Amino acid sequence: MSKKFRICTLPGDGIGPEIMEQALRVLDKIGELYDCEFEYDEELIGGCAIDAVDNPWPEKTEKAALDSDAVLLAAVGGKKWDHGEKRPEQGLLALRKSMNAYCNLRPVSIFEPLIDSSTLKPDVIRGVDLMIVRELTGGIYFGRRNTSSDVEGAGVNGTKGWRAYDTMEYSEYEIERIARYAFEMARKRRSHVTSVDKANVLDSSKLWRKVVHELGEAEYPDVELDDMLVDAAAMQLVKNPGFFDVILTENTFGDILSDEASMISGSLGMLASASLGSKTPIFEPCHGSAPDIAGQGIANPLAQILSVAMMLRYAFDMPEAADSIENAVDEVLKAGWLTRDLAGEGADESKILNTVEMGDKVIAALK
Ligand code: NAD
Repeated sequence: MSKKFRICTLPGDGIGPEIMEQALRVLDKIGELYDCEFEYDEELIGGCAIDAVDNPWPEKTEKAALDSDAVLLAAVGGKKWDHGEKRPEQGLLALRKSMNAYCNLRPVSIFEPLIDSSTLKPDVIRGVDLMIVRELTGGIYFGRRNTSSDVEGAGVNGTKGWRAYDTMEYSEYEIERIARYAFEMARKRRSHVTSVDKANVLDSSKLWRKVVHELGEAEYPDVELDDMLVDAAAMQLVKNPGFFDVILTENTFGDILSDEASMISGSLGMLASASLGSKTPIFEPCHGSAPDIAGQGIANPLAQILSVAMMLRYAFDMPEAADSIENAVDEVLKAGWLTRDLAGEGADESKILNTVEMGDKVIAALK
């Protein structure tokens, strides 16, 4: 009997629907090649959900996501909703919270044909293959915060003024569960975890370091563990990214470092991510809704397609099918095919594909 999976698809805003369409075509082909069935439940999130039901995270979407084997998300957001009280990004945070998706995985590697698209020197990035394991539901983005007016001495020249604060808090259990993920991931890779913190200053980082080391020594003595301060890690990522195998870090540091690391791969249009936790896992590209090119049919669908590969690997335990997609993307790029965002100056115009044509090429290369 063939395997059957239910996927909640969330195309969202901007280029979202265009790239989602190609990803689902690829998935349908995988279904034929690997004898399995994918059932899609398309729902609203973000700006389109605000327009339709005045809520960026409708109850119906939440129910569909909870009832599925995986959530495949494209992107949300756009100028239209930038100044409203209800924001598309609220839908994203609610999705992660509702799925208790505390672990964000971002693989960063370079497809050899794109090596010149990166702003970093080819010799620095050739062969880079790292995984960022970022804590996603704790830290400063979810901590206590406040803004007060008329605070004595907060104004300029000692007058009354505004003051705001945010707090970075971590509990032992939050650190332990994400660290465990990183160690397990490292075992399947090159057995090296670099834990990134700011333990020379922050209490939350001191606890982070203590818990990570206790776990490493007790249960993962076979995995090499080193610590790096976040400022040094930011430097090392552009100086010698080949040093890293698995980077384990908290929410805010991971947010910043993963965008920095995205430059290694040459384009935002190539990066996929997974957010895993105790409920339905979420798979999505790292880029946003690219409103500047929405509706033109020129968006790069590869990060969305590579998110499908991550879904097959991490949610459906189908590593061969995931490899098939990644190899197909590599083959298409090796043959010189590009989308507009990947084409550098002087690129051969006859090799530049639109969104649907890129989908066609990947499908044709699937094995
Ligand atoms: P963006 O990632 O949407 O776009 C940045 C630049 O990269 C743009 O020039 C865009 O055209 C280009 N780009 C991005 N993805 C591309 C693709 N697949 N193919 C070709 N070119 C691509 O970031 P932004 O412009 O800062 O944000 C636009 C909107 O997206 C905002 O509303 C923002 O809040 C939202 N956003 C959403 C997510 C998400 O849904 N996860 C993430 C980031 C930003």
